[in-house]
Amino acid sequence: MAEIMRITPAVTIPDHLLGQVQSKLAYVDEDIAAASISSDGTIELQLRNGNASSESLEEKVQRVVAEMAKGAMQPKVEVLEDHLGRKVPFASDPMSELMSRGELSLEQTGIYSFGPMVTRLIEVFESYFLELATEFGAKPQRFPTLISAEKLGRVNYFRAFPHSLTFATHLREDLDTISDFAEHAAHEAAGLNTPPESFARIQALLSPAVCYHLYFALADKPLPDGKLAATAVGHCFRYESNNLTTLERMWDFTMREIIFVGPMDYVLENREAARKLVAEYLEKIGLAYKVESANDPFFVGEFRKQSAFQNAFQLKYEIRAQLPFKNETLAVGSYNHHQDFFGRNLNITLPDGKPAHTGCVAFGLERLAYAFLCQFGLDSTKWPAPIREAFVG
Ligand code: AMP
Ligand code: ZN
Repeated sequence: MAEIMRITPAVTIPDHLLGQVQSKLAYVDEDIAAASISSDGTIELQLRNGNASSESLEEKVQRVVAEMAKGAMQPKVEVLEDHLGRKVPFASDPMSELMSRGELSLEQTGIYSFGPMVTRLIEVFESYFLELATEFGAKPQRFPTLISAEKLGRVNYFRAFPHSLTFATHLREDLDTISDFAEHAAHEAAGLNTPPESFARIQALLSPAVCYHLYFALADKPLPDGKLAATAVGHCFRYESNNLTTLERMWDFTMREIIFVGPMDYVLENREAARKLVAEYLEKIGLAYKVESANDPFFVGEFRKQSAFQNAFQLKYEIRAQLPFKNETLAVGSYNHHQDFFGRNLNITLPDGKPAHTGCVAFGLERLAYAFLCQFGLDSTKWPAPIREAFVG
């Protein structure tokens, strides 16, 4: 029986943190099916079967709120571009029509397949991103879908984003284990019935980002020519738990990145030049959006310090597209500067011996297509000319 539990947080959650705290509540307990925070600050949890002890649940919720919100400073939101007022012709939610036309199908929570129209629309955006990459002399690269556990550990990923990791494993090399699996493996409501000890220790994960692979490839060496620009597209995996409810948050999505490695000025100048070129393109296609400062979704213990740091040093800006049907915005891309974090941790050195700076421009391809369809609808004859002309329907 589903149950509702209400908790009044001991620490008041400031408005700017409501979304961040709410999304972290999904990870508090497996019994939580959904979490929301009402306007008076009360937390409401929908429990799956009410098995969790209410004291321990409340204690964990209070801990999340305290760690994220206690003494949190209101960040200065810096808006670099504001084109949310652009008139767009469509204002409905395209999800059900995408589903009924076979343009979108849900394989499992957070896992989607796309039909020919969405695929071609994504290819139109991709051909622009490849053009943009050539403006920076960014050479194409191909990266794996798996990512090294050893290397992710080296860049502190486990500490910063443990909640959203997706692990890759395989059966242990043991005849009895493999034979037993072959004979008995079956999927039950809670998942495969395989005992956890049948699986090997984790050596690899499913990659959460594209640019990390480039930094790993450059690790422990001087950077050739002292600077480098590259581009790649890849599947990325972020387990977003109960937040995986629509196309807005997927477990498996694709990202196109243009990546800069070199001295700080080189990275910052290119990040800014890319932003200006992207702004021209988004104006040409008439997208309603804004670009504003943002932070990464660090886990509870790291959240306050790391997000304040990102804000203070202007490390992250997001392209947030308007979703007219719900009057909210959705991040479809980001402009990032990691300072010399990867250079230091991975020992990527510049000719003067200092660690390299890195930065990237990242686009979420499914989200961009989704936001575009939210603003312009599914009838390609009504799309803005630059997209319509490039679209081979
Ligand atoms: P980030 O590295 O977090 O700035 O991500 C870059 C872009 O990837 C975001 O702006 C989104 O467009 C996209 N993205 C990130 N997480 C997800 C997700 N769970 N589902 C779909 N797209 C995502
Ligand atoms: Zn990146």
